[in-house]
Amino acid sequence: MPTTAHVTCPLCEATCGLTVTIDGSDVTEVRGDHDDVFSRGFICPKGVSLGALHADPDRLRTPLVKRDGEFVAVSWDEAFAEIDARLRPIMAERGNDAVAVYAGNPSIHNVSTTLYGPVLYRAIGTKNFYSASTVDQMPKHFTSGYLFGAPLSIPVPDVDRTQFLLMLGANPLVSNGSLMTAPDMRGRLRALRARGGKLVVVDPKRTRTAEAADEHNAIRPGTDALLLFALANVLFERDLVALGGLADHTNGVAEMRALAEPFTPEAVASEVGIDADAIRRLAVELATAERAVVYGRIGTTTQEFGTLASWLVDVLNVLTGNLDQPGGAMFPAPAASAPGSSKPFRHGRWRSRVRGLPEVYGELPVATLADEIEAPGEGQVRALLTVAGNPCLSAPNAERLDAAFGQLDFMVSVDVYLNETTRHADVILPGPTPLERQHYDLAFYQLSVRNVANWTPAAMPSDLPQEWETLLRLLGVVTGQGPNPDVGALDDFVAGEFARRAGAEVEEAAGRVGPERLVDLLLRSGQYGLTLADLEAAPHGVDLGPLTSRLPHALKTASGKIELAPEAITADVPRLAARLSARSDGSPDGHAAYGAAPHGSRLPGEFVLIGRRQLASNNSWMHNLETLVRGSNRCTVQVHPDDAAGIGLTDGALAKVSSAAGTVELPVEVTDVLRPGVVSIPHGWGHDVNGVRTSVAAAHAGANSNVLTDDGPLDAPTGTAVLNGIPVHLAPA
Ligand code: SF4
Repeated sequence: MPTTAHVTCPLCEATCGLTVTIDGSDVTEVRGDHDDVFSRGFICPKGVSLGALHADPDRLRTPLVKRDGEFVAVSWDEAFAEIDARLRPIMAERGNDAVAVYAGNPSIHNVSTTLYGPVLYRAIGTKNFYSASTVDQMPKHFTSGYLFGAPLSIPVPDVDRTQFLLMLGANPLVSNGSLMTAPDMRGRLRALRARGGKLVVVDPKRTRTAEAADEHNAIRPGTDALLLFALANVLFERDLVALGGLADHTNGVAEMRALAEPFTPEAVASEVGIDADAIRRLAVELATAERAVVYGRIGTTTQEFGTLASWLVDVLNVLTGNLDQPGGAMFPAPAASAPGSSKPFRHGRWRSRVRGLPEVYGELPVATLADEIEAPGEGQVRALLTVAGNPCLSAPNAERLDAAFGQLDFMVSVDVYLNETTRHADVILPGPTPLERQHYDLAFYQLSVRNVANWTPAAMPSDLPQEWETLLRLLGVVTGQGPNPDVGALDDFVAGEFARRAGAEVEEAAGRVGPERLVDLLLRSGQYGLTLADLEAAPHGVDLGPLTSRLPHALKTASGKIELAPEAITADVPRLAARLSARSDGSPDGHAAYGAAPHGSRLPGEFVLIGRRQLASNNSWMHNLETLVRGSNRCTVQVHPDDAAGIGLTDGALAKVSSAAGTVELPVEVTDVLRPGVVSIPHGWGHDVNGVRTSVAAAHAGANSNVLTDDGPLDAPTGTAVLNGIPVHLAPA
């Protein structure tokens, strides 16, 4: 007899409620849950594929250990005995820093790894912690840390009430939203326009979101900080700065005026590719709209000036008085959040061994992981733990990192696939599918455009240990308790610590273990005083209402105020100014081609590369599902028709794309959606390597865009990789 389960989709940030029909061990249907308090029935192709993911024959169902170069299936006890025998000696002989950790993007979409991963990583005690954040949103953590005092205090656009949304480097109609949890963005943006509001998109590409907007400005890649500075300049010049109630809670406005002064619309116009009059008009519209918000996403963070661009987004929201106001940029009030540090944010508490790059939010840049593996000496990385990550496809200079992984003495991966990265592992520990585990979206309710809470019990039983049990068993190994530690006792200890830090009594969640105990404790100590039982009684979620003003209480800076111009950020402004003047002079500099191809003087075949999102793609890890790799979800290099004609490329022909880091070949897609001079390749592809066990992905391999990205140039304050605005050369293959 089929049964029905209501689950929160964990595949992306939108947190859609889904209704799953299960017949025995088969998933027979996945559809949007029309009663879900937040998503109201919305679903995308990835959500529909949850059943296919569950049934995927390539998905790992037993631990694997590499013997004589071949993976063999083993028991869990054998796998942990291998880890204990090989990892502990490395830690004992070479120190904790000899073990690196890489946590991939899916680990933040999984309540087990979100809650128990940091416990394990702290127990390993390594400085070499890396994650997908430094190929994604780290600049936003950095700027939130310094402006508002906490790296997770990220304001989100109040999209349901705004009248003017200026969006840069984001394509939520395809990504389904990022650093903005908002199911059905198409419906929300339609509603914005239907109530007389205006959507302006700034992007080098006429994306699907740009096509649905009132206005699209095709900016030159990597120049968002210049545009945003020019908008601030106009606000000061025209006396449009109006902080309103924020004035009492903000330091640094005078410093901002001085910093913005050189960046006039005229000074930046040719560089950003948007004329000065249009910049002035945009600034006036932003300042005079009834309720307005600026929002920037991955195109603004994964570029050479990612921190400055992220910062200036928030600066504009403050200068126009739109921070913490309905319809502006607001701080969500989640029902549960993991206890954070009570100290004001700072970075650089340690530095990477080889390049001296500063730690940010407990992490080093993944762009320097290969350095740390390759360079001999004390503290050299000799072992690696990856958790739901595929850096061989997602990190810059991927071929170098791939080769470096081959030099490790030992590697463990917690992952559902034998993929491009985990093929280097000595032991792979699989986890259950999203339908076989509990879920609470701890991370993304902190970024939600409406306050909601939804608990998902496991929809189906699993033959595999839950990831929290696997992580605690690994914790036992690294803390010298051997391959068979008392996982229950470790869990009790973790729960006790959580309760203490959250100010709750662990006995309140008696009868529960694992994530459900921790979530119960966090809910009980949260601002709504909910319990897990409350959520269990509400399978379609609990609506906690629209976002509300949270200042000054949400501010955690030492001053208790918004620090609009902190030195850690403004120290990078001269680098931007130098880049601008170098361009204006026409003088060469180290990365003269980064960020923007010199207009009018481009050589034939010289382009600037940007990435792109695809609706049916989830970074690298869902390409083994036939339903998601069909149709338009293709790995092509998109080229403007004029550019294609200029170098003899035709639609469907093979192009050779080269950068300072490497070369790939892939089919050409001629399209006028791109700004001339800009080409685009999606990330997450390149499955044509030996030793993987993903047959569908291999048949739709595509090319790895990160062969072209460089691990040298970085966003200076955070070490975030430059994935947009890369100089490349194109030619017929
Ligand atoms: S939009 Fe995201 S959360 Fe919603 S169904 Fe698609 S993948 Fe799942």
